[in-house]
Amino acid sequence: MLAIMVPLCLMALKPGRADEEWYPVPRPQIHGNKAMFRVAHAINPRFSHMSKAQLAIVLAEARQVAKDHFGIEIIFGQPEQIGISELFALRPSLADEDLLQWVYDFKGDSGKRHLLVADLLERLRANNAQLAEIYAFAAPHLIAPLASDNAEGFAEALTDTLLRRLYVWRVLPAIDRRAVIDDTVYNEWAFWDTLAHGALPYDIVITNQLVASAEYYGMDVHSALRGGISVGTTSYSRDGPFHTYAFLSTFPFANDYVPIVKLRGGKRYGEEEAARLAGAYLAHEIGHVLLHLGHPFNQSACVMNPAQLLDFRTWRDNLDAARCPLGSSAEMVPGAAKLTYNASWIVR
Ligand SMILES: [Zn+2]
Repeated sequence: MLAIMVPLCLMALKPGRADEEWYPVPRPQIHGNKAMFRVAHAINPRFSHMSKAQLAIVLAEARQVAKDHFGIEIIFGQPEQIGISELFALRPSLADEDLLQWVYDFKGDSGKRHLLVADLLERLRANNAQLAEIYAFAAPHLIAPLASDNAEGFAEALTDTLLRRLYVWRVLPAIDRRAVIDDTVYNEWAFWDTLAHGALPYDIVITNQLVASAEYYGMDVHSALRGGISVGTTSYSRDGPFHTYAFLSTFPFANDYVPIVKLRGGKRYGEEEAARLAGAYLAHEIGHVLLHLGHPFNQSACVMNPAQLLDFRTWRDNLDAARCPLGSSAEMVPGAAKLTYNASWIVR
């Protein structure tokens, strides 16, 4: 899914506090077209998780797709299994309140809906020339039709869909019968975004956690339609050799909750297919990490083209490395994505 570059670029344009300083993330050096990643498998025991055999498929598929599409040989270290609470203990000592000011509080009653609408409206206006196309894409997936036939009405309808689909996870039960999204912050994208601002010893974190949330910045149309679900993100890493780390949530691949299956266009995946599709999507994040590639939207041959909703099978079936070489479009030129990080969030 959409990596950090868009949210943070947008966030950088917003009037922030005086102590917020945004800097470009340097591109990593790749020697001999080879890269080695340290991998964690972070497990929340409240959800099913991929087996070791599935994880091996994820990594093998990511390696193959990265080789085919980027010409880079990936070497993965032995995945280290870690509990979600242990992983979050590695977060920087960034005050939760500082981060939560960017988060829409859908668990309590302090969420500011008008800020979500305003942010989506800003995004739609920035893409005014494509508004009709974006609407054509989104309209079949909106829960309620537009109250007014303009960008404001569209932003309102997107916010409505986002929140209704997000709130479902406060009701649907996990293995322990409590709601999939509980009162922890493990579902919050902003916390995953800043996970490696401290001393995170991994370059790739594969997790069974559902990452679904709403923020007052950078919510794109795709995410809003999915109810704020993130499949993966590439974010700044303070100590990592690549200057970024990526997480991949296997939840949308490996669960058959009704809202997930619906967003897949009704498809269910067996264990092997789920692992293969997740692996291909991990290669998408690796394209952000190693090459800072962007998103060639609607160029379906490209692994960097985000999947529509959660229909990973169609996305994977359309990939064709020969039709999407590096440099074949502006977004496929290394460095196309302008990743930034907030220096005030680096806590030593
Ligand atoms: Zn992406």
